[in-house]
Amino acid sequence: MPDFIVIGGGIAGVSAAAQLAPLGSVTLLETERTLAFHTTGRSAAMFVGNYGAEGSRPFALASYSFLESPPDGSVDAPLLSDRGLLWISDETRLDHLRSIAREGDAAGAGSVLVDADEVLRLVPKLRTERVAAGLYEPNALDIDVAALHQAFVRIARRAGAELRLSSPVTGLARKGQGWLVSTPGGDLECTAVVNASGAWGDVVAGLAGIEPVGLQPMRRTAFMVPGDHSYAAWPFVVDVDQLFYFRPDGAQILCSLAEESPSPPLDPRPDMADVALAIERINEATTLDIRSVNSQWTGLRTFAPDREMVIGEEPTAPGFFWLVGQGGTGIQTAPAYGALIASQVLDSGLPPGLSGVDPAVTSPARFR
Ligand SMILES: Cc1cc2nc3c(=O)[nH]c(=O)nc-3n(C[C@H](O)[C@H](O)[C@H](O)COP(=O)(O)OP(=O)(O)OC[C@H]3O[C@@H](n4cnc5c(N)ncnc54)[C@H](O)[C@@H]3O)c2cc1C
Repeated sequence: MPDFIVIGGGIAGVSAAAQLAPLGSVTLLETERTLAFHTTGRSAAMFVGNYGAEGSRPFALASYSFLESPPDGSVDAPLLSDRGLLWISDETRLDHLRSIAREGDAAGAGSVLVDADEVLRLVPKLRTERVAAGLYEPNALDIDVAALHQAFVRIARRAGAELRLSSPVTGLARKGQGWLVSTPGGDLECTAVVNASGAWGDVVAGLAGIEPVGLQPMRRTAFMVPGDHSYAAWPFVVDVDQLFYFRPDGAQILCSLAEESPSPPLDPRPDMADVALAIERINEATTLDIRSVNSQWTGLRTFAPDREMVIGEEPTAPGFFWLVGQGGTGIQTAPAYGALIASQVLDSGLPPGLSGVDPAVTSPARFR
């Protein structure tokens, strides 16, 4: 019998499995035939200090050391590479740009306000008349998401974890001091369950008769258009009101409308109207003259009502742990929230590297 069962094989589930496996036996159960099939495989792959809910920012900072120097043998190449992030604003929205700058200062993100000349030097294809100023975060980085996910898988497997694919959890019930977890392949017993099922977080809790925390999955579509290797040094460019973003990606450009449209938990498909609107806005702001799309996809960014993550033991169900609601920052915060959930499952106190994190902010108890 495994000590711990982790439900979900996205970045959240494998981060928890990697942290728990050295401390007890772990079985991870994933519905799909492959890991990272849903949101984790569909992100923009960025590390941005000045982004996301206030309570998630210390998790990003606390994750940096793992991302920068992952454990020996867990990766074949660096997980991080230089990118930078540039918020851009026209004359009418400078107040908003300054408020983002203040948030960046508070988060210690190292972002600096830059004038229009500097914005245009960084991204020469922006239209002069559309740029009044920018906020540049030079420390923003590209994350190799597949390699990070694989690093957690390697660490977990080496410590003896079993990762079962095509194994949807269909039932959850208390059994003695632990849990009985049902799948089509049979039942499993364990002492603790970690619910890392992303957009399905409330659905999985419901299997155990636990009240939802009010998770809302939000669609976000991204797509690739033809680019040029000469754009390689551009930062990730975001409109100050998040009306669009784009970034170079090899010979292509990754673009998004940066939309947040509510959705039930499912495998979402792109709406071509979202792609068309993003192209219209990017073409208005730049001279890229985008006319064709190479590929497109949609992922669900899942938020709790206060947009903070939900990490910790369910007050009404001992041994049931939430690890959901990562919203738009679930990749860059994964090493830290994996460490936090493991310490909570083990009841071993806040790990030393997480001293800036306040577990009360992310506790599910705030909803009870
Ligand atoms: C367009 C886009 C851009 C983004 N950009 C960034 C970025 O730049 N940086 C960043 O940090 N984050 C970014 N994010 C957010 C990030 O991708 C998510 O926060 C993160 O991937 C969430 O991971 P997860 O493991 O919780 O969810 P998922 O990857 O969705 O994993 C949940 C898993 O649980 C499984 N599951 C569900 N129900 C069951 C069940 N009953 N039994 C077994 N398994 C089950 C699902 O099949 C799924 O595989 C972005 C997201 C999108 C969509």
